[in-house]
Amino acid sequence: MKYVDEFRDGDLARGLARSLATLARDDRDYRFMEFCGGHTHAISRYGLEDLLPPNIRMIHGPGCPVCVLPVGRIDAAIALARDPKVTLCTYADLMRVPASGGMSLIKAKAAGADIRMVYSTLDAIRIAEAEPSREVVFFAIGFETTTPPTALAIRLAAQKKLSNFSVFCNHVLTPAAMRAILAGEGEGVEIDGFVGPSHVSAVIGVRPYQFAAQQFNKPIVIAGFEPLDVMQSIMMLVRQLNEGRCEVENQYGRAVTHEGNLKAQAEVADIFELRDSFEWRGLGEVPASALRLREAYADYDAERRFGVTTPSAKDNPACECGAILRGAKRPHDCKLFGTVCTPETPMGSCMVSSEGACAAQWTYRRFDTQRVAS
Ligand code: SF4
Repeated sequence: MKYVDEFRDGDLARGLARSLATLARDDRDYRFMEFCGGHTHAISRYGLEDLLPPNIRMIHGPGCPVCVLPVGRIDAAIALARDPKVTLCTYADLMRVPASGGMSLIKAKAAGADIRMVYSTLDAIRIAEAEPSREVVFFAIGFETTTPPTALAIRLAAQKKLSNFSVFCNHVLTPAAMRAILAGEGEGVEIDGFVGPSHVSAVIGVRPYQFAAQQFNKPIVIAGFEPLDVMQSIMMLVRQLNEGRCEVENQYGRAVTHEGNLKAQAEVADIFELRDSFEWRGLGEVPASALRLREAYADYDAERRFGVTTPSAKDNPACECGAILRGAKRPHDCKLFGTVCTPETPMGSCMVSSEGACAAQWTYRRFDTQRVAS
């Protein structure tokens, strides 16, 4: 398949690995965070760490939408879904994320709450149209990639004058999380550069990452999701560091432009505004890191319509998801990994989504203790 097969070519991967082995200097280490869960998945699935010299280490980042949602927001969604007039629409991954008291959305559904899995925001709109007596709430999560479809649904609901549709907004922003990680550097994590997110960058472009290079002296290479994309991006990062450069480079030129998708950016800016602060699992409260609906669209804001409050809630104390999402620990560092916590019985959010570091490790690398111990 075009744009897939040629980026999974084993001979080319081995050639890149040989070049990297030559390029990586023996007198230093290279610690790169892949921000995005899609890259974590690709690195585990294709065994890319086995192709890297031992002094290049990949650190998993927080770029998994399901993983970073704090327990309190899931508790709030469950409380919302227990309102007998509410139909809560959500993506499938969220259903099994553990909430407080051993609860989850799927358990709340089993107990009678009207919670439905949807594949797109438009499915939720269709449900609202078909069932006017129900209050249909879309549980919106995700980074800049999934925000435009939510904006589109709100625009559509307004055009159709749908009075029974609203959005529980949990959309978060990648650059703010990157800044929080860099500001906390030294607390168990050292980063020399970032493999930057690709789908997010297709929307926001290259410019929003400049601060990391200019203020924190960290190079970033925006990378595609195929294994050769990731290998080439690591090589570009190594080259920057060797040459003493700190720049934002774009390896994923076949999808990401410098300016990004201006139409999507305008649509999002019209409907959403910045929250002062938002809690992230693992990162805590991060200033200006999430969106909420503007006053002009208040009718479609589930938080205002239902007076949603976010209870203070804690993760399972044995779960290391917080440290893993900050890059301070790895899945094998968690005592529950592969014992009581598996994809069938997740104890933390990182074991639920295929983009979660623990799920990727379990699926592709659970018997590999050599590299993860380094
Ligand atoms: S293995 Fe399970 S409990 Fe441990 S950090 Fe990962 S998700 Fe959390």
